[in-house]
Amino acid sequence: TGRVYLVGAGPGDPGLLTLKARDCLAKAEVVVYDYLANPVFLDFAREGAERVYVGKKGGCHTRSQEEITRLLVDLALEGRTVTRLKGGDPFVFGRGGEEAEALAEAGISFEVVPGVTSAVAVPAYAGIPLTHRDLTATVAFVTGHEDPTKETSSIAWDRLATGVGTLVFLMGVGNLPLIAERLMAHGRSGDTPAAVIRRGTTPAQRTVAGPLKDIARLVQDAGLKPPAIIVVGEVVSLRGTLNWFENRPLFGRRIVVTRAREQASGFLARLAELGAECIQFPTIQVVPPETWEPLDAAIREVGAYAWLLFTSVNGVRFFFERLAAQEKDARVLAGVRVGAIGPATAEALEGRGVRPDLVPGEYRAEAVVEALGRENMAGVRVLLPRAERAREVLPRELEKMGASVDVVPAYRTVKPDRDVTRIRSLLEQGAIDVITFTSSSTVTNFAEMFAGEEGLLREWMRRTRVACIGPVTARTAEEQGFSVDVMPSRYTIEALTDAVIRRLAGAPEPGDS
Ligand code: SAH
Repeated sequence: TGRVYLVGAGPGDPGLLTLKARDCLAKAEVVVYDYLANPVFLDFAREGAERVYVGKKGGCHTRSQEEITRLLVDLALEGRTVTRLKGGDPFVFGRGGEEAEALAEAGISFEVVPGVTSAVAVPAYAGIPLTHRDLTATVAFVTGHEDPTKETSSIAWDRLATGVGTLVFLMGVGNLPLIAERLMAHGRSGDTPAAVIRRGTTPAQRTVAGPLKDIARLVQDAGLKPPAIIVVGEVVSLRGTLNWFENRPLFGRRIVVTRAREQASGFLARLAELGAECIQFPTIQVVPPETWEPLDAAIREVGAYAWLLFTSVNGVRFFFERLAAQEKDARVLAGVRVGAIGPATAEALEGRGVRPDLVPGEYRAEAVVEALGRENMAGVRVLLPRAERAREVLPRELEKMGASVDVVPAYRTVKPDRDVTRIRSLLEQGAIDVITFTSSSTVTNFAEMFAGEEGLLREWMRRTRVACIGPVTARTAEEQGFSVDVMPSRYTIEALTDAVIRRLAGAPEPGDS
């Protein structure tokens, strides 16, 4: 028979998945997962692994618990390796105990991989330590699911109310008024600090805090819906000084990144670290050129060039890929001077053992021209491996200076075939804080993805902010009828991120403005 791993997925933040959980996902033939498990975890499953969603959102179950348990048993009996992925920890109000019992009964071997439970992690992300030397020495995890008016409660409310310092209720939002009432009826002060945290550890985290006697009304007024954790106890007051997660500069901000997927990771990581909810919507995709022939030919005689100029990281990447394909390495560049348009391109070169001779102070084609203008370029051979379609400024100006320029396509950018439904609806609702464009083609492709809706798009774009990496991109955006709100003075991703932060820090929510 197969084997079943009962795995905790943590509370939602992908970084809180354990290494062991990731291994279990990677080795599973079938992944059986819940509503609360972050769907990005499925990316850790191997290609071809079967993915079975078994639901469970509030009261609405895609399958009953009995069906889930039977499914696990049946899959294992078929000899399959199964990872059963559950939100938080599998043995904390997750019915993981029942699933394990059924497996044990059927004689199926299983392992339990504990997860970071929401009961601990969610308060932590709300700035609430569950214990504290000065405030409390005890903590209890309680189901809020049980109807507190039930005659024979399995919860000893009288002892819980005053016998335990910190109380953490899971699944309790619907019963919050009754929970608060019960605790007060059994002697807990109505002034005890309380907090309700929804979708904790995710960019959508929301917290409502107040004294126990008011918390139900505050939550109702705020329209806070499940899933949420309720914390009652003096420790909640520490949130005033410890609210690190929600206080990050971009927390609660939704930012669309149109950059190519291959290049977006650094940008995304930085924005996410600052608390933003990033939506990846690549409007360009980097692919090889129609033919390698011109680049291959140029590489064969690269020693004959005086200058090799790179205008992008992609140019560097594909140049070195083709170099390797000819079984050569950076030594062929020994006598060639190398230029990079900006620091990221320079870094890509350094990563391949080449220190560029030229990195202009300003990151545009014009600045390269200016820097080279100080040299005598007459008759000098220049190789420019770059995108198939690109601005003509650089080769044109170099030629004016007398240089002989060979422009060879090293890659090409295409418009991916993408579903725009989600972005369209967010744009329409004004629910996006910033859309970032990092090149002219990200702008034109973005606009083309809304072909036939140009007027509407222009209207929607007024409900968000447009951030462009530099003046060329900004001009393209303006040509599309978008007004540009953010543009850094240095044309780098880092500067763009800083400019976005400055623009958003303390700025009103979109729609207010
Ligand atoms: N086994 C899970 C709990 C499952 S019960 C764990 O250890 O976390 C489901 C309840 O968990 C929800 O009703 C809610 O109270 C809580 N919960 C899970 N994830 C949460 C999150 N990200 N934010 C707030 N509450 C969460």
